[in-house]
Amino acid sequence: MSYDVLVIGSGPGGYVAAIRAAQYGKKVGVVEKDAKLGGTCLHVGCIPTKALLHYAEMYEQALHSADVGILYEGLSFDYAKMKKRKNEIVAKHARGIEQLFKKHKIEWLPGFGKLLGKGKIEVADGKEKRQIASKSTILATGSEARLLPDLEVDPKRILTNVEILDMDSVPKSLAVIGAGAVGVEFASIYRSFGAEVTILEMLPRPVPVEDEEVSAELTRAFRKRGIQMHTGAKVEKVSDDKDGVSVEFTASDGKKQTLKAEKLLVAVGRKPNTESIGLENTAIKADRGFIAVDGFMRTAEAGVYAIGDIVAGTPQLAHTASMEGLVAAAHLAGKPVEPINYLQNPGATYCEPQIGSVGLTEAAARQKGFDVKISKYSFAANSKATIVGSHGGFVKVVADAKYGEILGVHIIGPNACDLIAEAVVAMSSEATVESVMRTIHAHPTLAEAIQDAFNGIYGLTINA
Ligand SMILES: Cc1cc2nc3c(=O)[nH]c(=O)nc-3n(C[C@H](O)[C@H](O)[C@H](O)COP(=O)(O)OP(=O)(O)OC[C@H]3O[C@@H](n4cnc5c(N)ncnc54)[C@H](O)[C@@H]3O)c2cc1C
Repeated sequence: MSYDVLVIGSGPGGYVAAIRAAQYGKKVGVVEKDAKLGGTCLHVGCIPTKALLHYAEMYEQALHSADVGILYEGLSFDYAKMKKRKNEIVAKHARGIEQLFKKHKIEWLPGFGKLLGKGKIEVADGKEKRQIASKSTILATGSEARLLPDLEVDPKRILTNVEILDMDSVPKSLAVIGAGAVGVEFASIYRSFGAEVTILEMLPRPVPVEDEEVSAELTRAFRKRGIQMHTGAKVEKVSDDKDGVSVEFTASDGKKQTLKAEKLLVAVGRKPNTESIGLENTAIKADRGFIAVDGFMRTAEAGVYAIGDIVAGTPQLAHTASMEGLVAAAHLAGKPVEPINYLQNPGATYCEPQIGSVGLTEAAARQKGFDVKISKYSFAANSKATIVGSHGGFVKVVADAKYGEILGVHIIGPNACDLIAEAVVAMSSEATVESVMRTIHAHPTLAEAIQDAFNGIYGLTINA
């Protein structure tokens, strides 16, 4: 068997790269070890969490709807039904990828892919091992949850993203280690459904990749929602008790504390899946599992590309993986292609309140020596935010004073993950602060908050 392109892994990196390579006329095969196509993102990541976050939001809205005169009697929720619906959504989209593969004549090779070197790949499906030749190979093997040293998953109580998404009911209490995107999203979901949620974060602030003011706002919003958060907390020991979990930690004041909860979610980062994929048969040297690539996603081994969560020094996000896949596919097909500008890669955290961001934080911009101008516009003054009853948060613009260059945009508040798209387009088309100020935004919309935030760079905000 031989292919022009063999992709190992069918997550948002792999399946998108495969489709694009097929669109360019290549004969493409995709090796996938799991029974379903779609990877972490579809099965135990982006999609199931966003389904649950949506139901959590619907429930919260219903809980507070009496304020606007909509009355429910005996409001409750059926978690089993939500789980079923979430699983149906996942299954539907997995079938969708299968159909796309058929449409583009992409062959799905079930099994575990391993590089043998010199354009040869072994695919082992439990029954047999096949050797396949490919002119180009794209590694898109993704990542899995990292655990703390000496800690093992117990599907009943000590959970990663995989087990928590399979729970049949909402726990009374949930401890979360790690306040990155995964940790705060799950904290947000189960708090909405009534769990007592406590987050332990080693760093001084939650969502540490975000602008400091965003972290501060999230801390405030979570406290208001009753989510307990200990930052600067070092977890010392986790005990799996019969009726729950005990987490011993040293708090930021140096005092030892013990947190007891029915369940524990470990969300301390993601480990790249590169251990057994045959890197030793190639020129690729992984650094703590991560693979270095050039601007076209080429690795040190000729003809082998790497994309997605396994790539060194790039964000572990689905849309990043997909764009990297498109770049690799274009490059191997000899099509015109530019390296990715990762400063124009949006971050999106879908907790309540949502966070959407792109570009440099204020601190990073100052550190780089820009003559920084800041504008911060609160959703409190935006009429659509009043209508939807979501006043918390702000749009913060980081700009360069000299030419009005947009350096970064940081949004926390309603629909932040959708709103950030405007800032990404503005930055990727090299719009200036003035261009966004001149752009007509429909009224009344949340997007007007973006325009007024940009107005604020020159002290020209209208609605504040
Ligand atoms: C709970 C959670 C929520 C998330 N939410 C978001 C979000 O909202 N937005 C966002 O952008 N990102 C989100 N992410 C991150 C996102 O899921 C990842 O960045 C994305 O899935 C990475 O895509 P990938 O293609 O690199 O790998 P993956 O999606 O991990 O896919 C890799 C695939 O490769 C297969 N594979 C691995 N090794 C082999 C092998 N040797 N042979 C054959 N097959 C193999 C795996 O089975 C898997 O199917 C979330 C992650 C988690 C855990």
